Amino acid sequence: MSRSFYVQETLAISNEFQGDVGQIAAVLEREVLLNLEVLFALKAAIEVVPGMDAQRFQSITDGILERSPVIMAFAWAPVIKRSQIGTFERDQQGHFPGWRLSERDAENRVIPVAERSVYVPVQFIAPLDKNAAAMGFDLASEANRRAAIEASRDTGRMAATAGIKLVQETEKKQGFLVFAPLYKGRPTNLEQRRKAHYGYINGVFLVGELANQAIGIRNNPNLLFQVVDITGTQPNQLYSNADPADPRWVSDMGYKTLLADVAGRTWQIQAKPSQTYVNARRSFLPALIMVSGSFFIALLVIYALINVNRNRALVASKEKLEKMSLTDGLTQLANRRHFDQFLEQEWARGMRQSQPLSLIMLDIDHFKHYNDQYGHPAGDECLRNVARILQRVVRRPTDMLARYGGEEFAIILPDTANGSLVAEACRAAIEQAAMQHELSDTSKRVTISAGVCSMVPSESNSLEELKEQADAALYRAKNAGRNRVERC
Ligand code: GH3
Ligand code: MG
Ligand code: MG
Repeated sequence: MSRSFYVQETLAISNEFQGDVGQIAAVLEREVLLNLEVLFALKAAIEVVPGMDAQRFQSITDGILERSPVIMAFAWAPVIKRSQIGTFERDQQGHFPGWRLSERDAENRVIPVAERSVYVPVQFIAPLDKNAAAMGFDLASEANRRAAIEASRDTGRMAATAGIKLVQETEKKQGFLVFAPLYKGRPTNLEQRRKAHYGYINGVFLVGELANQAIGIRNNPNLLFQVVDITGTQPNQLYSNADPADPRWVSDMGYKTLLADVAGRTWQIQAKPSQTYVNARRSFLPALIMVSGSFFIALLVIYALINVNRNRALVASKEKLEKMSLTDGLTQLANRRHFDQFLEQEWARGMRQSQPLSLIMLDIDHFKHYNDQYGHPAGDECLRNVARILQRVVRRPTDMLARYGGEEFAIILPDTANGSLVAEACRAAIEQAAMQHELSDTSKRVTISAGVCSMVPSESNSLEELKEQADAALYRAKNAGRNRVERC
């Protein structure tokens, strides 16, 4: 009896630990996605500006860098043919005295570049003061970076390197680079991409900062938390919050979980609890078992099983995530993919923490007529305006405003028990903008209808239900005359 109790108890503690780690992993994953998204948005902004110079690059990146401790630098790196190197270097020296195309030897000393058919030198980098050492560095000169730049050029997607020691860092900080390819026009296949490709935007990310964002205050001495890149044959440790060799870690309860794909790479979280963590959860149980016997064990087993299933569901949902763009091209809001992922994540978090979650579905009234009257390009402009206005209402950094599809938008409000106020503020803001809409039966102005639903996620409701109810409320708002908010 006591033996089997010990086994059940161990299972329960193990599951609790996995829940804790899963939560940290979810936060880390969100942090990674957000930072990759920043790079993608920068690339999108740069693609619409023809030509680039140092000053423009600096001013585009300034504000973003200030707000992102994880991003150490942004760089601009064009592809330069061997025959153009002389002219290019002279041009650069006109702007940055001493600018020199270079690579590094095994001891990280600057050396002249070897002969290659093309070079990918860092032409601009921001912030310049902290990263001057990377100026002129040929990204194609080192195998790890070369693999990532070629992958991103050929796929059109962002591609990350394995963990690397940064050329601009003297201390031993682990970082990784993510490359976003730039093309002339819109190539659609490999051959076109190689031909149209002319350079990269790259972001330099600090792994330690990413982990800090995720474990931050939760970083306690009872948890070993490591981030390992397991893409290649050799696992590559990116981060560890403590010494893995310390005897206080309970290896039997070690837990590993994968993050969603990080720009083409696979990251694994490896975690272990300390003996103190385990002991703190064992102590009170033996006394209880005397009183409540097998009934209590049954409860423990049920608890354990629920947790196992939940973890499995989490892993499965992460695997579904595929990362390319998370941004809607027309409005620059989060797109449907990003929305789905965020909602699922917030649902799981709400469940763990018993916090309410609100979902608002919004739809422009009589938008078909708007297109009919003013034309499709004007319709697009109207969608952009609506997005801008809604964005001014939805301001909390944890909230998400997304383009759900066509002329429909959606808002996720974590930790919010009543989303009606925000929904009403959105409706009013659009009405007040007084955008002309002659064919609208509702008010001769552009208006929106909204459906709101709020729930505390639990085993007795579901995310599907939340979505269905918000949708049903929107449907009621339409039927009741539009330009109004209905709640479930
Ligand atoms: P309701 O008040 O019932 O919502 O009527 P509605 O006309 O807005 O709804 P309906 O679903 O019939 O039509 C939606 C219209 O939105 C049709 C489609 O052409 C237009 N639309 C969807 N996506 C875009 C887009 O990206 N740009 C433009 N200009 N129009 C779009
Ligand atoms: Mg619609
Ligand atoms: Mg509509």
